[in-house]
Amino acid sequence: MNDPDDRPSRPRGTGRISRGGAPRRVDPSRRSVQRPSERARSVDPARKAAWETMRAIDDGAYANLELPKQLRRARLTGRDAAFVTELVYGATRMRGLYDPILATCTDRPLADIDPAVLAVLRLGAHQLLGMRVPAYGAVSQQVALTRELLGAGASGFVNAVLRRVSEHDLETWQRQVAPRGDGRAGELAVRTSHPAWIVRAFRGALLGHGAAQEDTVDRGLRELLEANNAAAKVMLVARPGLCEVAELEAAGGRATGLSPYGVELDGGDPGNLPAVRQGRAAAQDEGSQLVVLALLAAELRGDPPHQERWLDLCAGPGGKAGLLAALAGSRAVLFANEISDHRADLTRRAVAAAVDAGSEVMVGVGDGRTLGEEEPDTFDRVLVDAPCSGLGSLRRRPEARWRRQPHDVSGLGELQRALLRSAIQATRPGGVIGYATCTPHLPETRYVVADVLAERDDVEIEDAQPLFVDASGAQIPDLGEPPYVQLWPHVHGTDAMFFALLRRREAT
Ligand code: SAM
Repeated sequence: MNDPDDRPSRPRGTGRISRGGAPRRVDPSRRSVQRPSERARSVDPARKAAWETMRAIDDGAYANLELPKQLRRARLTGRDAAFVTELVYGATRMRGLYDPILATCTDRPLADIDPAVLAVLRLGAHQLLGMRVPAYGAVSQQVALTRELLGAGASGFVNAVLRRVSEHDLETWQRQVAPRGDGRAGELAVRTSHPAWIVRAFRGALLGHGAAQEDTVDRGLRELLEANNAAAKVMLVARPGLCEVAELEAAGGRATGLSPYGVELDGGDPGNLPAVRQGRAAAQDEGSQLVVLALLAAELRGDPPHQERWLDLCAGPGGKAGLLAALAGSRAVLFANEISDHRADLTRRAVAAAVDAGSEVMVGVGDGRTLGEEEPDTFDRVLVDAPCSGLGSLRRRPEARWRRQPHDVSGLGELQRALLRSAIQATRPGGVIGYATCTPHLPETRYVVADVLAERDDVEIEDAQPLFVDASGAQIPDLGEPPYVQLWPHVHGTDAMFFALLRRREAT
């Protein structure tokens, strides 16, 4: 069991080892200045699990998939699990700020530091600057961890660097490594720990979607970047017909009022809930729920079908397909398409409970770009939840901002256009197409839709905003410039989902 003394207990900015003066640099060859009496007696399993997770992320793992494995392996639950989660998510998200701070505290370029040691330092920096862990506990525990895992030499280095970090609070360090006036994107990028190209993309998106004007965009941008750094609550969907919202509330959740099926959990592993284990509920951002509900709320034109045909063109891993399948019931048949075998398997799992309850669902593996040619004029409602940069869900995927590069995004635009063209072809005249992305980035959202619209005369755009209503049926405000919808973490508390509604024209 972990020593409770080193868990957060005091407000940020207290408990420093020493203060004042310019930070000194550490020569990595110097021996530890830690006294034996200051040494932690044993390694904290929570910090060890955090370090193991950070190393796996360095090797390409996704934090949200790796962390539960490490928690299970170390048998950490409750408060300890929450501590590890905050450590890993915070240290990963904030490394764009912590790395320049760490660089100030050592003579060695960060690129020359063993990545295993750098992971210890980032975790230490987050305890000292981003959490309320007293400095003594944070430093001594990281040093003990290093000694056990990486040897005495490395532990001396870690001790010296973290003691330098502990000499200032977060605000002082921010002023030092991201001085004001250092170019708007540059300063904000370091202060809020985002790559500068993403800061610029968000700025353009806030303006381009009409969420801010020139005189308000700086404030909106800062709020958005800060929202990306806040720990996101776990959001669940109670799949209708399979699970009542009340069941999740009885398990400690709270209905949010935005999506009629959305329930927020304060923390903990949703996989422990029977409804989630049985596929009757699932983790799903409310923005994604609203997108599905909007597509299903759109009016169909032409002869009403006896049973509607729905297509989810890019279905894996099946979050939206799970909700579509639950809502299909006797109203519709759902065809879920996905290009990857593995993600198609995940989709089969996501729809299984609805299928057991009687929904008709087919999951197929195929390239969505050719489906329109193969099944033209077929579906009443088509969802294109396009592969995208994912810039709208950075708060849930702490490593994503460091992995994405601007050139990845340029390749996505062609794929997004091809998928949207195919979706239009697969839709019957009078039917509707929902184009959605989990990013507000203009080249993946408005520009894609505008380009495809410009090249065709068989499709028109409709105002999607009236389709976005909350659980009480009231219009959701601040959706941006119509006819599109853009949700935002700092405004709606959702991922930054984009949605456009297109309609296949009926023959005249
Ligand atoms: N709708 C999913 C959900 O809610 O869980 C998320 C979809 S994700 C944003 C995009 C998906 O598109 C990925 O699973 C990816 O494998 C798939 N994909 C990429 N290229 C594709 C293509 N050419 N045809 C069909 N699916 C594709």
